[in-house]
Amino acid sequence: MPKPLIAANWKMNKTIEETGDFISSFFSMVKDAADVDILIAPPFTSLSVASRLLKGTDIELGAQNVFYEEKGAFTGEVSPAMLLSVNCSHVIIGHSERRQYFSETDEIVNKKIKTARKNNLNVILCIGESLKEREDNKTFEVLEKQLSGSLKDVQMEGIDIAYEPIWAIGTGKTATPGQANEAHKFIRGWLRKNREGAEGVRILYGGSVTPENIESLMAEPEVNGALVGGASLKPDSFAKIVKGAKGRI
Ligand code: PEP
Repeated sequence: MPKPLIAANWKMNKTIEETGDFISSFFSMVKDAADVDILIAPPFTSLSVASRLLKGTDIELGAQNVFYEEKGAFTGEVSPAMLLSVNCSHVIIGHSERRQYFSETDEIVNKKIKTARKNNLNVILCIGESLKEREDNKTFEVLEKQLSGSLKDVQMEGIDIAYEPIWAIGTGKTATPGQANEAHKFIRGWLRKNREGAEGVRILYGGSVTPENIESLMAEPEVNGALVGGASLKPDSFAKIVKGAKGRI
C-alpha cells in the first residue's frame, strides 16, 4: 500500500492572493510530514500560482475537474493538457457536487477518467450515497453501480477512490469510523473481485473530516487517507489533519 493521501478540495474558494497566503504559511507547518502524501486542489484560477509556490516541495497539486475531450469548441472547459501545463499531478473526478449541480453521470465520469489517465493524470474518483439511499439500505448497491459505471474498461493504475457519503459533505455529520470502514471494505472487495491491482488503490474518506476526527478515522484498517473540504481552507486546521493522519500510520 502506498503512503496515505490527505487531499484538500477547496471547491469554489480562494482568490490567487488567498492561495498564496495559504501556501506560504501551510508549507512550514507540514515540512516534516514525509510519511503522508499531501495534495491541494485549488480552483482553476489559482493553479498557476500554486504550482509556482509548491515547486521544490513534496506537496502535490490537483484540479477539481477536467473535460473528457482533448481540445476544441467546448466553452468553459479545461483539458488534461492544460492541467499538465500547470504541473497538476492529480484531478478529482465525479465529486457529488458535480454529479448533483452539473448533472455528471457515471458515463461522463468514466469518459473523464479515461481521458485523464490517457494523459497520465492521477485520478481521485469520488463516490458515495445520499441519506435516503443509506436509510433505504441501498448504500452498497449505489457504490457498486458507481464503481462499475465510472470504472468501465478502466485499469486501476493511477487511480485512488474517495468514499464521500453525500449526507456527510459540508454538513458537520461525519460517518462513524465503523461506517467509513464498512463502506471502504465493500469498495476494496469490489476492486479485488473486478480489477487487477486492487491493493495499490488508496481509499480515502471524505465528509466533514476535521482535526478532531481524523485520528479515529485513520485508525480504521481500510481508511487510507482523507479528502477534506471545509477544514482544508485554513492552514493550521489542514496541517493538524495531516499531522493527525501521520500519527495513525
Ligand atoms: C468534499 O467536498 O470533498 C468534502 C469532503 O467536504 P467537507 O470536508 O467540507 O465535508
